[in-house]
Amino acid sequence: MKKRVKKIVMKFGGTSVATGRNIRRVAKIVANSVKKDHRVVVVVSALAGITNQLVEEAEQAKKKNEKQIQEFARKLVEKHVATVKEAIDNKSIQKEAEYVIKKTVSELEKVLTGICYVGEITPKSRDYVLSFGERLSAPIIWGALRDIKLKTQYLTGKESGIVTDENFGEARPLMNVTTHQAKGRLEPLLEKNVVPVVTGYIAATQDGVVTTLGRGGSDYTATILSVALSVDEVWIWTDVDGIMTTDPKTVKSAKKLPQLSYGEAVEMAIFGAKAMHPSALEPVIEAHIPVRIRNVFNPENHGTLIADGQEAKSKEVVKAVAMIRDVAMINIKGAAMVGAPGSYSKVFDVLGKNKINIMMISAAVSEANISLIIRRNLLGRTLSTLEIALLGRGLVSEITSEDDVCVIAAMGANMKGTLGVASRIFTAMAQNGINIRMIAQGSSELNISFVVKEKDGEAAVRVIHEEFKLDQI
Ligand code: ASP
Ligand code: MG
Repeated sequence: MKKRVKKIVMKFGGTSVATGRNIRRVAKIVANSVKKDHRVVVVVSALAGITNQLVEEAEQAKKKNEKQIQEFARKLVEKHVATVKEAIDNKSIQKEAEYVIKKTVSELEKVLTGICYVGEITPKSRDYVLSFGERLSAPIIWGALRDIKLKTQYLTGKESGIVTDENFGEARPLMNVTTHQAKGRLEPLLEKNVVPVVTGYIAATQDGVVTTLGRGGSDYTATILSVALSVDEVWIWTDVDGIMTTDPKTVKSAKKLPQLSYGEAVEMAIFGAKAMHPSALEPVIEAHIPVRIRNVFNPENHGTLIADGQEAKSKEVVKAVAMIRDVAMINIKGAAMVGAPGSYSKVFDVLGKNKINIMMISAAVSEANISLIIRRNLLGRTLSTLEIALLGRGLVSEITSEDDVCVIAAMGANMKGTLGVASRIFTAMAQNGINIRMIAQGSSELNISFVVKEKDGEAAVRVIHEEFKLDQI
């Protein structure tokens, strides 16, 4: 009987391809997998920091002159060509990669010059600019794979068949057409043992206009393609061993979590465990495709496995704890809100219309006050928006805020139905003299979030890490 070949989508993040040396590691990892008869699709991010530079340049282009844009383009070529020289030995492959880089940057230069003349940037043209990071990294990884004698081809997200809606900046895939097209374009390559190198993060609308999937969107590209091609696993290669119990900068004894359920991983992605793009897990959850987070710098480590049924295998109730910084708390008070249908909706409505995202809510059953958590940089705008819309209209009598707070989130699927988790958390806080300003637990019971003063944040994380013995996980 013929051995069934395993299909894997591997995504390499910005730091994994930050330098030529790193790219050589990446190439070796891919080659090792191909040697084991795996069929591999590679998804790559832009080189570390490049997307940020493009964001900045897109913003500034309208105020710049042509000379400054040329200077930016020159530096971009320099950086990528230096990486080519480090990543690839073969001179003729080097030349080919360099040629693609120069051609691509010259296209970007024209786009930026256009923006500078028009003096305005639209969401559409912004996405076009942001797409260049991945368009410049993919040819280097492609070259590095060829350099070590792998058969390979590079494609943009659009060429790989990913079609999205027109929500520029945060586009979502249209999965039926994407599946159909991606199969048609990538399967034949895989059958010929060619490794497709696909640009992460970028795709196109039905009309072929470039879109991006939101920052960190290469993960999303990987999971979209994994579902389209019904692969066996997705490997997200990054620069840490996997998802950790907490930030090792705060708690030195933080441990890698060997496995997580999809629900837990989604929760952690949202809380900025930096592990994944928050939407990236949606497609694989439905398709039951396991995801592994792995370390390019420590490939022997099996990383963190995210898959079905993992909660049953572990006994821990709290598995991880995170601190979310740079937030602010707003308290809205008003006796007239009590028993008044629609009073909360007024608050949410005005914030929604002003594109202010609410991260956390808590409202007591007395109904006389409601507390919200938002990003700190939105505080000024949020306060003025709320004041204009709500004060002096007989509903809300007072709006106050605190900008020196942070959110602590304790997470774990087995918290559901386990008694005493909240009591252990809050008793531990009290014993350590940490005052709690606000609490929320969704009925999913996957996490308990609460707000403390920022100065108490790290202590709160340490206390929970210790209380639940997360260093022994
Ligand atoms: N390069 C894009 C970003 O930095 C996408 C990614 O890295 O996943 O957001
Ligand atoms: Mg990136």
